[in-house]
Amino acid sequence: MYDCAVIGGGIAGLQASVILGRYMHNTVVIDRHHGRSLMAKNYKNILGWPNGISGPQLREVGWNQAREVGVEFVEAAVIGGYKKGNSFVLQCSNGTMIEAKRLLISTGLLDQIPENIEGLKDVLGLAVYVCPDCDGYEIKDKRTLVFGAGDVGASLACMLLYWTKEVTYINHEPDSRPVSPHWLDKCKEKSVAIVEGPIRRVNYADLQALSSVELTNGEIIEGEKGFIAFGGNEPQSDLASQLGVERLENGHIPVDGRSKKTNVPNIWAAGDVVAHSQLVAIAMGDGAQAAIWIHKSLQK
Ligand SMILES: Cc1cc2nc3c(=O)[nH]c(=O)nc-3n(C[C@H](O)[C@H](O)[C@H](O)COP(=O)(O)OP(=O)(O)OC[C@H]3O[C@@H](n4cnc5c(N)ncnc54)[C@H](O)[C@@H]3O)c2cc1C
Repeated sequence: MYDCAVIGGGIAGLQASVILGRYMHNTVVIDRHHGRSLMAKNYKNILGWPNGISGPQLREVGWNQAREVGVEFVEAAVIGGYKKGNSFVLQCSNGTMIEAKRLLISTGLLDQIPENIEGLKDVLGLAVYVCPDCDGYEIKDKRTLVFGAGDVGASLACMLLYWTKEVTYINHEPDSRPVSPHWLDKCKEKSVAIVEGPIRRVNYADLQALSSVELTNGEIIEGEKGFIAFGGNEPQSDLASQLGVERLENGHIPVDGRSKKTNVPNIWAAGDVVAHSQLVAIAMGDGAQAAIWIHKSLQK
C-alpha cells in the first residue's frame, strides 16, 4: 500500500512527487508518457532557465530527482479506480493494481492540434506556439500567422496585436467553423487580415522561424512565427469523474485554492487539469502545494 499515488508524471506530478519523496512518503507516479510537457520543445518563461529548457529535459531531471528520494515510477495509463475502505485502488493498463491512501490527479490536458498539417509538429513550441501568456514575447514585432478555426482563432489573432502589428488569421476550417460577423468586424477594425482555407503545409527556414504556409488551394502566405487556436482542448479528467471528483462544464477540476483538495476526501488535483492558467510555473506551484497538504493529511 502506497501513501500516495500520483496519476500523471508531467510537471505538476513530478514536482509533487519530489516533495512527497523528501517527506519520506511511500509514493508512486503512474504516467502514460503522453502529454503537453512532452510536446513543448523550449520553455523560456521559467525562472532559472533564461535560454529555455524543453519539456522532455525538465521531466527527465524531475524523474531522476524524484527517484533519488525513493519515488517509484510505473509507465502505464490508469484506466479505472475505486474507493476501498480508507484507500483507493487504481487499475493500470499494464494489468497492475495499485493501492494508495491518497491520490493526486495531475493528468493535464490534451491540445487540439490538426494531424493533417505537414510540418506543424516539427516547429511546435519553437516557431509556432500555443499559449500567448507563455510565448507572446517570442513574436514581438514579427510577422505572425494564426492557424485556427472559427471565432477562437479570430479572438487570439486580435489578442496577439499586443505583441506585433502584423497578424494574419488563417481559418483552417472555414466551411464547418466560419468566423462570426462580430469577429469579422473586430478583425477588420484592428487590421487583422483573414485568409480562409485549409492549410496543407508549414514551411520553415529553420525550426525557430517559419518562412510561409501553403494552403491546399496552392496559396502561399508568408510569416515568421505562428500560433495555433483551434479551441476544444480536453482536460484529462474522466478518471477523476469516475472517482466522484466534481468537474466544471469545460472538464477542468475545481480545487480549494490553498490546499488543492478536490471535493472528494483524500483526492487532490494539480496542474493543467485544474481550472486556472496553464503554465509550467503554476503546475509546479500546484504540485508543491498539494504535496504539502497531502503530507499534513497523512500525519493525522
Ligand atoms: C507546445 C506547447 C508549448 C508550451 N510552452 C509553454 C511555455 O513556454 N511555458 C509554459 O509555462 N508553459 C508552456 N506550455 C504549457 C505546459 O507544458 C503545461 O502547463 C504543463 O505541462 C502542465 O503540466 P501538467 O503536469 O499539468 O501536465 P502535463 O505536463 O501534460 O502532464 C500530464 C501527464 O499526465 C499523464 N496522464 C494523463 N492521463 C493519464 C492517465 N489516465 N494515466 C496515467 N498518466 C496519465 C500524461 O501522460 C502526462 O505525462 C506549453 C504547452 C504546449 C503543448
